[in-house]
Amino acid sequence: MTTMTRAGTAVRFEHIDKSFGQNQVLHDIVLEAPGGATTCIVGPSGSGKSTLLRCANLLEVPTSGRILIGDDAITDPGADVDRIRTRVGMVFQNFHLFPHHTVLNNVTLAQQRVLGRTRDEAVQVARKHLDAVGLSRLEDRRPEQLSGGQQQRVAIARALAMDPEVMLFDEATSALDPELVKGVLAVMRDLADRGMTMIVVTHEMRFAREVAQQVVFLDQGRLLEAARPAEFFDTPSSDRLRSFLKQVL
Ligand code: ADP
Ligand code: MG
Repeated sequence: MTTMTRAGTAVRFEHIDKSFGQNQVLHDIVLEAPGGATTCIVGPSGSGKSTLLRCANLLEVPTSGRILIGDDAITDPGADVDRIRTRVGMVFQNFHLFPHHTVLNNVTLAQQRVLGRTRDEAVQVARKHLDAVGLSRLEDRRPEQLSGGQQQRVAIARALAMDPEVMLFDEATSALDPELVKGVLAVMRDLADRGMTMIVVTHEMRFAREVAQQVVFLDQGRLLEAARPAEFFDTPSSDRLRSFLKQVL
């Protein structure tokens, strides 16, 4: 595998607050996801993991604070949201594929519509990425004819076909049957090895320990801990993280 063409773009969250109405769900989050590295975010359900991730491609807009992708403050007024979303790929728990399109078209459509690639270019790029996730034989199928693990790999190929600088994963394996989780994690691990900047919300503690350069703990909208995996798992400093790890490990 080749290295990513644009590896190394860091993502910086600067004092992010987020409220839904009266409910403040993120409190002063300060975090740098280093370029070319994998940052895993773990924490209890409802702690704000998805909201934080969604802020990084403006699916949610922070109530205050700034987010930088490389040198660009995407939260500044006048930021080009469409352009930002091409730079920041996202993979969701429930795949979000277009049900009425083939696998191939799922991976080509945004390339043509958003990036203005010709059909031929888009197909060529799509096949490269489908091949890399082991799905080139299935390009004519529709999503419902695939397993969940295959659908998720299509979603990853679709995001990568946009040549993103950063990839966000929100519990990408949580909806999968256990035997399908491995294949998706292998694709993510491969991407990490190739130097993609990744922010991964996950319950897969083994993946976090083995793949991440940094693991972050969110609890009730607060970032309580950010450390290298060995330190995070072996010598957690907060009681909250210690009891969380006791429950999940
Ligand atoms: P996690 O991903 O860690 O489970 P979320 O980021 O989904 O947590 O949710 C954090 C909190 O924000 C929860 O209390 C949730 O109910 C609330 N929340 C999330 N999205 C919305 C929304 N669109 N409107 C109102 N409240 C929301
Ligand atoms: Mg979530």
